[in-house]
Amino acid sequence: MSIEEFDIIQRYFSAISFHQEANAALSVAIGDDAAVLHRTLFTSADLVVCADTLCEGTHFFPSMDPFSLGIKALVVNVSDIASMGAVPMAFTLCLTLPLVDHAWLHGFSQGLSFAAKHYGVSLIGGDTTRGPLAVSIQIFGQSSHAPLRRSGAKAGDLVAVTGTLGDAGAGFAIAKNQELTKAKPSKDLFLLNRFHRPQARVGFSAVDGCHACIDISDGFLQDLEHICKASGLKAEIDPDALPLSPELQAYANSAESALHYGLIGGEDYELCLTFSPENRVNLEKKAATLGFKLTVVGEMFELDTQAYNQYICLKGWTDSALQTLRSNSFQHFLKTH
Ligand code: ADP
Ligand code: MG
Repeated sequence: MSIEEFDIIQRYFSAISFHQEANAALSVAIGDDAAVLHRTLFTSADLVVCADTLCEGTHFFPSMDPFSLGIKALVVNVSDIASMGAVPMAFTLCLTLPLVDHAWLHGFSQGLSFAAKHYGVSLIGGDTTRGPLAVSIQIFGQSSHAPLRRSGAKAGDLVAVTGTLGDAGAGFAIAKNQELTKAKPSKDLFLLNRFHRPQARVGFSAVDGCHACIDISDGFLQDLEHICKASGLKAEIDPDALPLSPELQAYANSAESALHYGLIGGEDYELCLTFSPENRVNLEKKAATLGFKLTVVGEMFELDTQAYNQYICLKGWTDSALQTLRSNSFQHFLKTH
C-alpha cells in the first residue's frame, strides 16, 4: 500500500464503525492484512454474506453527488441482507478511484458514514486501487432464523410490499434528463432522493411468519417473478392496491403512467414479501413500528400451466397488455450500451 492510499484510509475510512456487537467481537479491524470477527459472534447465528458493485456509467451517472453515492453503495447491500431476513453487521469496501480527489472522498465517506451509522454497521476493511470509478461493498449479516428465500412462498400467501413503488424509477428519469441536458437540479427532490438515497427495510424475518422475500431492485413485476419461479407458483396482483406516492402521482402525466412506474420502475429497494393471511395484522404492526408501510397487493396461487402468462396476472389486465408493459421493463441505464 502506498503512503497516499494509507493516508486516504486513515483520513476517510478508518473511523466508520458503529456496530457495537461487531466492534466488540472484532479481534482485528482496519490496519492488518485482514479483519478478524471473533467466533463468539456466530455461535447462535448463521453468517449471511453478499456483495454489490456500483460502476460509474453503468450504475450511476458521472454527475451523481458523492454523499449520495456513499449512501447508495451501502444501502443496496444492506437491502440484500434485509431481504434474507437477516441483520447487517459489518462490511468491506473496495474502492477504485481514477484520481485522488479530496472533496469527492470527503463527500463519499460522509455519505458512507451516515448510512453505516443509520444501519449500525461497521467498516472492517477493504482495498483501494486506481482505475475507472467503482465502489464494491461486501457485507456480512447474521440471522438466528431460517433465511427468507425466494423459493419459500406458499399457495394462499398474501403478497405485500413495503413503502411506495416507482419513485426511484421516476427519480431515474429525472436524473437522466438532468445528465443529458445539463439542466439545473430539479424541484422533484423527493423522487430524486428516492433514486439516489434509497432506504433498506431491515427487520422482517421468518419468525414474523414471512415465507419468501426479495428486494425490489429491477422493478416490482420482474422481482416478484423471481419469487414465483423459485416457488413454482403464480401471483395475482391488484394494480389498484399498489402503493404510489403523491409525489409520483403528481409527476406522472396520468394515473396510468404512475402505475407503470410502480409496476416496472427499478431501484426502489423496497421489499416484496409473502406470508399467510393470519400473520397480516402482526406484520402490518411490525412495519409501523419499524417506520414504514406494508401494503398487501395480491395473493399467491398454484400455477395454472394452461395460462399464457403463467407466473403473474394483473387483475383487469389482458395478458397481452401485461406482456407489452413488461417488454419495457427496467434495465440499468448503460448496461446495454
Ligand atoms: P496491502 O494491499 O498493501 O496489504 P491493504 O489493501 O491490505 O494493503 O490495506 C491495508 C489495510 O487497510 C487493510 O486492513 C485493509 O482492509 C484496509 N483498507 C484498504 N482499503 C480500504 C478501504 N477502501 N476501506 C476500508 N479499509 C481499507
Ligand atoms: Mg490489499
